[in-house]
Amino acid sequence: MDTLKAATLPWLAGPIERLRDAGAADRLPHSLLILAAPGLGAAELAAWAGGYVLCEAADRAARPCGACAACALLGADSHPDWHAVRVEPEAQQIKVDQVRDLIERLVQKSYRGGYKVGLIEGAEALNVNGANAFLKTLEEPTARTLLMLTAARSHRLPATVASRCLKLALRAPERESALAWLRASSGEPDGWEVPLALAGGAPLRAVELRRTGVGELDAEMRRALADLAAGTLDLTLLAERWVRSDPAPRVAWLENWVTTRIFAGIGGDGESQTAEPVRLPRGARGPKMTSMYALLDAVRDCRRLATTGVSPQLALEALLLRVRSLSS
Ligand SMILES: [Zn+2]
Repeated sequence: MDTLKAATLPWLAGPIERLRDAGAADRLPHSLLILAAPGLGAAELAAWAGGYVLCEAADRAARPCGACAACALLGADSHPDWHAVRVEPEAQQIKVDQVRDLIERLVQKSYRGGYKVGLIEGAEALNVNGANAFLKTLEEPTARTLLMLTAARSHRLPATVASRCLKLALRAPERESALAWLRASSGEPDGWEVPLALAGGAPLRAVELRRTGVGELDAEMRRALADLAAGTLDLTLLAERWVRSDPAPRVAWLENWVTTRIFAGIGGDGESQTAEPVRLPRGARGPKMTSMYALLDAVRDCRRLATTGVSPQLALEALLLRVRSLSS
């Protein structure tokens, strides 16, 4: 893992400073809940925070240093006091056994005589039993242990779990500063507007989208919608095709498409997108707008399902059915 990357992402400067100050005052929280849309750097921030407590550099202000033995182990993903769980491939939830195993490892002594870190990535995939099992650990924290959970802002974690953590909600940077960062960090001065919009304002997601080819995606999606509306493209087949390749950017494209239409419908501009669910005024009425809002909800549900590993075929089919009825 890369413990240093978060410090290069300007929109994480606030949360990092907050943790650094807490560390300098010996008041680090026992548990952190990092809430963020995909592509805002939740994993990077968790890696930084883990690096901060595990790094063995003498100067605390320089942690994580990236150079000491502990940082080298983290860099090689083999630090013995770093314990992380996430939903396994093909699974829909984080299994309660994974959580129990994590707890088990956290009660043991630190291998390197320092901190221990326990991370649950994508904690919205915890089921009730898993959350309850972890709750006990949150309630009775052992000394020099940092517990972290990352989740989407729309998470449905039990309040008992969320309330015991210091919440760090990551916000998308302003569009202009996101663009400035994308240009500077990539050395590519042009062509970031579309990927950033498709990414809902999340810069790391924009980088990913650009790598996978946004122009092609845009053309493909417009063609698919036209064919769908004309009835020349089978919906099940299209959903299958998306599942086989990568549904996430296509669902993001759809969200962007719907949002732009809603904005146009209420006379706003389509530029005010952020990574947050856009709070659209409910003022605009009429059956078409109501369907658009319903479609937007469906797209967002679909995006959440994708991140929790639920089989997306049926969700995508239901979504495409709505799209077809609106665009025909
Ligand atoms: Zn270090």
